Parts: sequence; structure tokens; C-alpha cells
Amino acid sequence: MFAALVAAVVLAIAPKPHVVWKPIPYGAQRKAEMAAYAEKHYGIHSWVLHPKVIVEHYTGSDSFSAAWNSFASNAPDGELGGLPGDCAHFIIDRDGTIYQLVHLNVMCRHTVGLNYVAIGIEHVGTSDAEILGDPAQIRSSLELTAWLVGRFHIKIRNVIGHNESLSSPYHRELYKPWAHQTHADWKRADMDVYRAKLRALIDANRRH
Ligand SMILES: [Zn+2]
Repeated sequence: MFAALVAAVVLAIAPKPHVVWKPIPYGAQRKAEMAAYAEKHYGIHSWVLHPKVIVEHYTGSDSFSAAWNSFASNAPDGELGGLPGDCAHFIIDRDGTIYQLVHLNVMCRHTVGLNYVAIGIEHVGTSDAEILGDPAQIRSSLELTAWLVGRFHIKIRNVIGHNESLSSPYHRELYKPWAHQTHADWKRADMDVYRAKLRALIDANRRH
């Protein structure tokens, strides 16, 4: 009885897809910068992430290496400035390869207002439609996100696009000049398509 119950629960969670570990430098100095950022923007003096939200992004560029190098450089954000530099936990390349850059218990700076609770997933590309239309890339994205949803008990409605950040119930920004800041990547209409595909994948895993 107990074994059957455990088996049922295990089967209900989407399997972990193949992930290539390609870490960016994230040592004590960058962690201290992240903790100072979290203090200023969220009132939390810590770099430790407790994931409740997944934010989908696209890089706005055509190559994985350009995105990885930019995140590894820890340069101040080009638009808003300040340290630490931007990063994301994952980058999904156009061929569907999933790279992980940062451990999942470490905050990354990828979405103003949500970095204290959000895992960031970048997709190499320049529009929502381009990624939704790339079979290998969107399959990997959905498989990764489905696994993370199960792993951290994240609600599907909290899988959002960067452009939806301001309407998240988790949005918090103590620094007033940034209180309404967001980006154009992954708008609601495209995320509705994404979430429908994600729900279908998760339901398919539950049935098997
Ligand atoms: Zn973004």
C-alpha cells in the first residue's frame, strides 16, 4: 500500500530532462553583491533562493555563448546598472540543449521585483513566437519547466513571462524608481499558449 502510494507520487512528477552543468563564476563576492541587492530591493539580507515562481525570458541575441559570457562577466546591468550583474539559472539553446549556470538555491538577478523567489530560464532567441515555433527548443523548455514545477511545488499560474512580472502576487520592489520596471519578453498572450502546453505535458505525465 505504502509502496504503491510512493510509486504513484513519484510517477506524478515530470522526469528531469538532460541538463548540461555549465556554471558561471558565482563566488563569495558575487553572493555578497546579491545579498546587498536583496536587502535594498526586498528587505532580505540573503542570496538564498526559495523558489515559488519561474520566469521565462529570451536573450534578445542569437547565440548561447554570448548570453553565457554576458552572465559570467558580472558586469553591471546595461539598463539599470548596479551589481551583481544579470544572470539566469538556465539557458536553453536553439537545438534544445539545456544549460544550467547557477545552483537552484542561489538568487539570480533576472527580473526586477521577483529575484528573491524566481528561477530564471533564458531562451536563445529574439521573440516569443520564434521560441514557440522551434520544436526542439520549446520541447526542452516545457520539459525543464514541468520538472521544476514538480520539484518545487510551483503552481502553473506562477510560471510567468518576464512581461507579466508586475502582475505577479509575489512582485515586491522597495526601491521606488524600479517599482513599475519590466521587459517586453514573453507577453501574456504567448504565455497563455505556453501554460496550456505545460499543463498538457504535466497532465500526460500524471496519466502514465
Ligand atoms: Zn527577460
